[in-house]
Amino acid sequence: MPDEVVRTVNLTCSYRVGPVLEDISISVSAGDYVGIAGPNGSGKSTLVRALLGLNSLSSGSAALFGVPCERFSEWGRVGYLPQHVKLFNPVFPATVAETVGLGLLSLKRFPRRLKRLDKQRVHAVLDELGVSDLAGKLIGELSGGQQQRVLLARALVNNPELLILDEPTAALDPETRERFYRLVSDINRNQGVTVLLVTHDMGTIGLHASKLLYLDKRVLFYGNFDEFCHSAEMSTLFGEHSQHMMCHRH
Ligand code: ADP
Ligand code: MG
Repeated sequence: MPDEVVRTVNLTCSYRVGPVLEDISISVSAGDYVGIAGPNGSGKSTLVRALLGLNSLSSGSAALFGVPCERFSEWGRVGYLPQHVKLFNPVFPATVAETVGLGLLSLKRFPRRLKRLDKQRVHAVLDELGVSDLAGKLIGELSGGQQQRVLLARALVNNPELLILDEPTAALDPETRERFYRLVSDINRNQGVTVLLVTHDMGTIGLHASKLLYLDKRVLFYGNFDEFCHSAEMSTLFGEHSQHMMCHRH
């Protein structure tokens, strides 16, 4: 299937304590926007890290763009915003433009230096996200919402086909969160970028994502949001009230 961006088959990941993710079989097609939800510790970050080759599998398989993750090398096709970014020490002496430029540098071979076109790309992506006025600021001077946009810019600077965001809005106030979600939706719709977004926001993810992956160590649900909303099994699992809240798509 040429437009399959992610595929896992019976993927299992373990830490020393034992398996934390079991028997995950999913397929994500080009252009999908998948919301990944589940309780704390349900394996959401472990799953996305496994796809990125950052966690090893104890059994099963995972592939990106048809290539097994352990052999995948075209990382420019994937943008990633991790759950915990410890970059933002208030005295970290890098500007916004430099921070976003790191996303480009990481793919270059020696000599690692940004060319004029690279700098133009950095400014173009900052412009797209409405933060070009911040280019020369130190990242430590930014608000939480601005920092998340800069990290999103860094994830997007290589024009990825797949964007993986792990709880990008957890620290944002509701208004900034909505704006961030709108940006991601635009990128998905207008540029056809496939999105995997890990979130706790069960109440709003249905507004944006086309599919839901609900994990609790295993896949409890994977499919279209509409299917989720009409599933009697999911009503039993969550209670009709909660299901209704999640399906409240305004
Ligand atoms: P989520 O992102 O859904 O909150 P995680 O994937 O981070 O869940 O974690 C799944 C489980 O694996 C949790 O029980 C967590 O404590 C455990 N875990 C996560 N990372 C590690 C690690 N590096 N070493 C050992 N256990 C871990
Ligand atoms: Mg997590």
